[in-house]
Formats: sequence, C-alpha cells, structure tokens
Amino acid sequence: MSTFQSINPYNQETIAEYATHTQAAIETRLAAGHKAYRHLAQTSLEERCEWMLKAAELLKTNVDHHAEIITREMGKTLKEAKAEVLKCATSAVYYAENIAAMLRPKLISTDARESYVTYEPKGIILAIMPWNFPYWQVFRFAIPNLLAGNSGLLKHASNVSGCALAIEEVFAAAGFPEGSFQALLINSKDIEPVIADSRVQGVTLTGSTAAGMSVGALAGKYIKKSVLELGGSDPFIVLKDADLEDAARTAVKARMQNAGQSCIAAKRWIVEEAIADAFTDKVSHLLHAMKQGDPFAADTDMGPMARPDLADELAQQLQQTIRQGARLAVGGQQQSANFAPTLLTGVEKGMTAFEEETFGPLAVIIKAKQEDHAIELANQTPFGLGASLWTTDLDKAKQLAPRIDSGNVFINALVHSDARLPFGGVKLSGYGRELSTEGTHEFLNVKTVYIA
Ligand code: NDP
Repeated sequence: MSTFQSINPYNQETIAEYATHTQAAIETRLAAGHKAYRHLAQTSLEERCEWMLKAAELLKTNVDHHAEIITREMGKTLKEAKAEVLKCATSAVYYAENIAAMLRPKLISTDARESYVTYEPKGIILAIMPWNFPYWQVFRFAIPNLLAGNSGLLKHASNVSGCALAIEEVFAAAGFPEGSFQALLINSKDIEPVIADSRVQGVTLTGSTAAGMSVGALAGKYIKKSVLELGGSDPFIVLKDADLEDAARTAVKARMQNAGQSCIAAKRWIVEEAIADAFTDKVSHLLHAMKQGDPFAADTDMGPMARPDLADELAQQLQQTIRQGARLAVGGQQQSANFAPTLLTGVEKGMTAFEEETFGPLAVIIKAKQEDHAIELANQTPFGLGASLWTTDLDKAKQLAPRIDSGNVFINALVHSDARLPFGGVKLSGYGRELSTEGTHEFLNVKTVYIA
C-alpha cells in the first residue's frame, strides 16, 4: 500500500504517514459525495449558511491548532498560517451573508410571458489543490460551492495530507451532511478515473502549468467543466513618479511573504531607470534585515520553503541567471529547504529568472528605459495573473491598466485575492475565475427558464 509522508521542511523530521485510499475507499467517497449533493439540493440556503457560519466559528476558535498543522507541514511562519486560517473564516462569513444575491434568479425580459436564469448545483466538484496556501486555496473553492449546493472532493498536494483531513473535519463538525466535503488521499497519476466518473461534474486545479495541462486535457476528454489557476511571473512595475518608500516595502512583502511561494508573488520587479538605484538601495536594506529561520519563532520573518527539491530548483534558476550576467546583490545561501531572501540586479529579457516562474524568495530587478518599455517588459511573459503598478498619477495608471495582459491589476497595492473580487489569470496562468459572483457561477448549471 502506498503512503503519503508529511515532513517538516524546517528540520526534515517526519510528522506523519498517511495510507493512500484504495479503489474501494475512493468508490465509497464518490458515492457519499453524490448522496451529499442530492441531500444538499434539498436543504435551504439558510441552512447551508448556518453551517458555513459554524465552520467559520470553528476556524476562529481553533485558529492555533489549524495554524500549527499548516506551519509544521509546509513551513510558513505561524503568523502567516494564523492569518491564512482567519482569512478562510472571514470569507466564510462574507459568503454566508452575501451569496443569496449571487444566486438570485435573474429575470430577463424577452418575448416570453416570463424568462429567467437560475443557478443550480451540478454534483461533486473535484478540487486539486497545492501546498502553498493549504487552507485558503481549498476554502476559496469550497465555501461558494458548498453554499450553492455542490459537494466537494479534495485531492490535496501529497505533502499536506494533515491539512486536508483537518479541513474535512471542520466541515463535518460544522454540520454539513456526511460526504459534503471529503479528502481523497490519492496520487496524481490515479486522477483520471475520478475525473471520468459521471458523479464528478467539474474540476478545479491550482498548481503548476504542467499539472494544468494534464488536468485540463482530462477535463476536455470527459467533457467536464474546469477552472485552472496556474503559475505566474507577475510584474511589479515601479514608475519614476511612484512613492518609492511604499513601493519598496510592498515589493519586498509581495515577493517574500510565504517564502516567495505564491502564484501572485511579485516575481519581476520592473523599475524605471531614473529611480532604479534608489529603489535598489531601499529594497536591499529591507531584505538584509529579514530573518529567515524557524517558522514557529515569533521573530522569524520567513520560514523554509515547502520542500528541499523546490529550493534546489530555485538555486539552479539563481545560478543560471548569474551565469547569464545578473549580479547577486543580497542573499543566495541555501541549506536544504531553507533559502535566504535573495536579490538579483541587472536581470534582462532572455535570462532564466525573467523567462521562467521562480517559486521562492528570489527578487529580481529589471530596468526599464521609460513607461512604454516597462509595459512591454511586463507583457513579455507567457503568464498573466496579477500585475502591480506603482505611480502617483492615477489617471495614467487607469490608462496603463488595460495595456497589461493580466487577470488582475493592482495599482499602488499588493496583489492579493479577496472574497469580494474575481480572481484568475490569462495566457498560461489559466482560465476561469474563483471568488465573487463570477467564481461562484463557474460550477453551477446556469439554467434558462422560458415560459411562453
Ligand atoms: P504541482 O502543480 O505539481 O502540484 C499542485 C497540485 O496538483 C498537487 O495536488 C499535485 O498533487 C497535483 N498534481 C500535479 N500533477 C498532477 C497531474 N498530472 N494530475 C493531477 N494532479 C496533479 O506543484 P508542485 O508541488 O510540484 O510545485 C511545482 C511548481 O508548481 C512550483 O514550483 C510552482 O511553480 C508551481 N505551483 C504553483 C502554485 C500556484 O499557486 N499557482 C502552487 C503550487 C505550485 P501531488 O502533490 O500528489 O503531486
């Protein structure tokens, strides 16, 4: 029987081992998920909202317990883990209070006596989720779907099975009918029959482009609706009239939080030449001051990366970019999964750290001659998830925003996902949206009713 191991990335100690689910166990979960969907469809929205509010309360009451599971399994600091758990709770409350409007039937006047659109659940939705925000990525899919009446099946990343099982417990303890939300401990190579199963009506994946290509192809093969939230190499554009102090502080946070392991991290800092030296001084100072280490220690700013192999890959990208002519300005040290906050200057188009997604604490400075050049550099990537643009001229910012090929543009702010705003990408960053009304409708049957 195969097992998943959870290993503390800070010290490589084995935390737990989980037996993967057998074929029979997978079938039991599919049957329970389908039954739960039928059951949920008979419950009222008010009832489901009550269960969701209870889930929020459980997360808040037990925030320390959940945060410790996260920090132990994937290494983010305890402060970050607590904030993540609380964000799940706040979002659960937001949807419990606001989803009725998102699901309200829409009257459309036509030549019919009456015509309208309803939003109805479809069945089990499979979520294939990553380890980087092991609670938030799951909750942002689960909250709207369970409230709308779909049931959820979670194939979590194999290094965070403890998180998967703890989330399953939260929804069960909150009162959702048995089978409404279940963790499936299976290898990614065994996913095809699950996607093919007629009880599964959609699949959402957050992860790498490679995983997206594979899951998207399977979804197409079996005609299942899919949402893909993949990687990014997002630009953080600083124009010469920006508030430099604020831009520098935010750039460092946007790149280094979660040890740089975020799809929307500021992976390419594109800075106008005129202010590049001043910006470099400010960010270097901030990066030098950061403390990397034990994620449970209160004074740690950045924990380890989630796995040593991910840190090894980042080290290779770093070395390659240096060989191509970039200059190491800060950091560069790596020991197993522990990777120091690092800065490269003189990065240009064609270099590895410009062309590839770097998923860790590596910041790079790319100089732009002027504004148009900055936008050109920003778009010279196969990805398009969340761009950040810094300028004090807001009229100019609004004119530049449509020129950036990206699912999100944040002006003078850190790119982040927010329960109230749709979230997703273009190009190789994926398709479909999560959150907000657009995200809530992705896995629903948008049904037209026409009365002659
Ligand atoms: P993966 O994309 O491989 O893993 C994400 C999830 O997808 C996991 O649950 C994984 O399961 C599953 N998965 C992977 N391949 C398949 C497949 N062919 N079919 C079905 N499910 C699959 O990420 P990694 O952990 O390997 O990280 C590698 C890189 O991916 C990172 O360096 C980063 O660039 C990117 N990434 C992007 C994320 C984002 O937020 N957009 C999040 C995480 C990673 P299992 O763990 O069992 O393989």
